[in-house]
Amino acid sequence: MTLAEDGLPPLREVIARHGLAAKKALGQNFLLDLNLTRRIARAAGDLSGCDVLEIGPGPGGLTRALLAEGARRVVAVERDARCLPALDEIARRWPGRLEVVHGDALELDPEARLNAPWRIVANLPYNVGTELLVRWLTPERRGGGWPPGWSGLTLMFQREVAERIVARPGAKAYGRLAVLAQWRAEARIAFDVSPRAFTPPPKVWSSVVDLRPLPAPRHPAEPDALARVTAAAFGQRRKMLRQSLRTLRPDAAEMCAEAGIDPTLRAEALDIADFCALARALRARETARS
Ligand code: SAM
Repeated sequence: MTLAEDGLPPLREVIARHGLAAKKALGQNFLLDLNLTRRIARAAGDLSGCDVLEIGPGPGGLTRALLAEGARRVVAVERDARCLPALDEIARRWPGRLEVVHGDALELDPEARLNAPWRIVANLPYNVGTELLVRWLTPERRGGGWPPGWSGLTLMFQREVAERIVARPGAKAYGRLAVLAQWRAEARIAFDVSPRAFTPPPKVWSSVVDLRPLPAPRHPAEPDALARVTAAAFGQRRKMLRQSLRTLRPDAAEMCAEAGIDPTLRAEALDIADFCALARALRARETARS
């Protein structure tokens, strides 16, 4: 058997030997091209001196690339026990640098396992990708704050989700995810990936998104209030704000006026500064009431 450049067997061989037929329920679309996984790892920047959290290593194509690109240590969380023997081979190839956690990424506390500085790099399972991103963007929900523990997120999403993360006001894809992501991080699409790069190929294109935390939010707001305002406004995005925000407060029109925002606008017309102003007005009214 011809070995790959990193001295391990080619991924196609790994998958065949360990019987890793992809399971749809686990969002398994594997990357077999080690040049592509190296490109993803490089999109995360210089990894030397940095721990990396990888969600869903699967047969380990991206894991191998992260280690080959010099990550100090990789902590890889995988739900599927079938992948563990393949990942064990990688751990033996780079002694002391790969820790595999068998479990659900939604239950992992990254802060407890990684040393600063650390980043997250992953070809995410599509069924939990957005949920994980929102958690990483709102560390307050688990007692954290901003700046977050992570110093970068380099993540593969379905392209439609990637577009929602980087969308600007007025765009069809602009919504809660764009506001939450861009409020206190720089978000960009690094590159797109064809369905043909995956086994099995998904129906849609994917994109690698790179997010870097800003030292402080662009505008003051409480994350919880901002999340509620954006959820209400975009939950009924075709309605005027004075109507959509009534799910939060009956005096929605006055609240908009207080924030300096025309209550006849729709959510997509507001930029991040406007949503932060609304979040502050919401909190001011709630505090005045209690
Ligand atoms: N990183 C591999 C690659 O690029 O070829 C696999 C990516 S595949 C899109 C997603 C991986 O996440 C699968 O290996 C799947 O078993 C795993 N996974 C799915 N749900 C998970 C969860 N909740 N926690 C941890 N891993 C999960």
